[in-house]
Amino acid sequence: SRSHPSQSEDVQSLWQKDRDHFIHPFTDFSLFHEQGCDLITDSDGIYVEDAYGHRYIDGIAGLWCVNVGHGRGEIGQAMADQATRMAYFSTFNNLSNAPAAELAAKLAELAPAHLNHVFYSCGGSAANDATIRLVHYYFNRVGKPHKKRILSRNNAYHGTTYLAASLTGIKSNNWDFDTLDHLVTHLSEANLYRRPEDMSEADYCDSLVSELEETIERIGADNIAAFIAEPIMGAGGVLVAPDGYHARMQAVCRANDILYIADEVVTGFGRLGHFFASEAVFDTQPDIINVAKGLSSGYAPLGATLISDELYEVLSTPQGPGGVLSTGFTYSGHPVSCAAALKNIEIIEREGICDNVRETGPYLERRLKTLAHHETVGDIRGSHFMLCIENVADKTSKALLPVEARVGDRVAFEAQQRGLIIRPVGHLNIVSPPLIWDRDVVDRVVDILDESLAATSQTLKDDGYL
Ligand code: PLP
Repeated sequence: SRSHPSQSEDVQSLWQKDRDHFIHPFTDFSLFHEQGCDLITDSDGIYVEDAYGHRYIDGIAGLWCVNVGHGRGEIGQAMADQATRMAYFSTFNNLSNAPAAELAAKLAELAPAHLNHVFYSCGGSAANDATIRLVHYYFNRVGKPHKKRILSRNNAYHGTTYLAASLTGIKSNNWDFDTLDHLVTHLSEANLYRRPEDMSEADYCDSLVSELEETIERIGADNIAAFIAEPIMGAGGVLVAPDGYHARMQAVCRANDILYIADEVVTGFGRLGHFFASEAVFDTQPDIINVAKGLSSGYAPLGATLISDELYEVLSTPQGPGGVLSTGFTYSGHPVSCAAALKNIEIIEREGICDNVRETGPYLERRLKTLAHHETVGDIRGSHFMLCIENVADKTSKALLPVEARVGDRVAFEAQQRGLIIRPVGHLNIVSPPLIWDRDVVDRVVDILDESLAATSQTLKDDGYL
């Protein structure tokens, strides 16, 4: 690794400014006050570099978003061209801009056939939040104003605006935060690893579908607007549902006039080998699909809600004379973000990035699973470029290590020492790389993780946790 000693004073000053003034999202302040943050300053392809010139393989694509990899000059150029030509103008009141129009048409072309209309936002939380408002509005407009409740799932992650945080079912995420409980009911997540002992995958799937049916029975279909689900649960632990689960859940929703919303903020734009996973991988036809992250590969903030023809017909009919669809953001359809997304999609198509994921993804899964022999590895799961290691104290009982052991942080630290950034989430470690990894990179990453897991077991022993 390279170092820039001449810059160390500048780095120290930045570190201090950051620690004194930047309230970081999802940050444990017991560590932050002491350690502050690592400043990531440079990037190139599959790599990022910190302020001291240490280079790391990016194992998390920024935050599951830099799908085409870092340092794509042509995306930067497309953004610069748009920013200098016309950085911003309103999309309210019958005004539009070229990139927003082009992108909406491109998304309609890529999405399942019945999803032809796009509502823009600035990210995933805002897309989910806007969706629920639109869904409520829709049911008000069709004379079903009692259909308000949204079904979500325990351990779901849908963001942190007030409404998106309420949809989120990861308990620790809402620790001492309030949620809008009158609007949301959480069902069980589909967790094959921790399903009841001695239950087959098929029986487990039946039980989850029954739970949905019983919940609808209890609350009343007349009071339920929608069911929202990530095709593979991401931040909640990369949970892959049993075969057929999503299609069966959707069928029950459809039979009860409950809209089906797929949150494809992570699974969209290639991570599972397709632009959209809902239909291609999970055989579902959602009424609404939400995307963000990989839509622009993180080069600019952007979210989009893809809406069916059927819903659009209602949303696009005014309430009455003077009626307006009064929802949206100053930055809905931001020209610079849309220009970034268009170039990003062009790259995904031109370079066959979905093909690479379908080719290299199964190899990554297979190679990662060779790490299962490590003492603390309870489960390795996921699909294609969306994977996770679940660390445990005891493989048989699946008991967890105490929170204070910070096992996820330990593995991530060991990996970072060896040149790889992966993401700790409690006792989990997530691997969600840029979609341009090839087999050589996978082999290097698996070697690093092999060493990192061995080193982690050792430090856990040294500290009396194992
Ligand atoms: N939905 C899912 C499935 C996500 O994983 C995330 C972010 O990780 C969000 C929504 C929220 O997106 P954002 O952070 O862009 O608001």
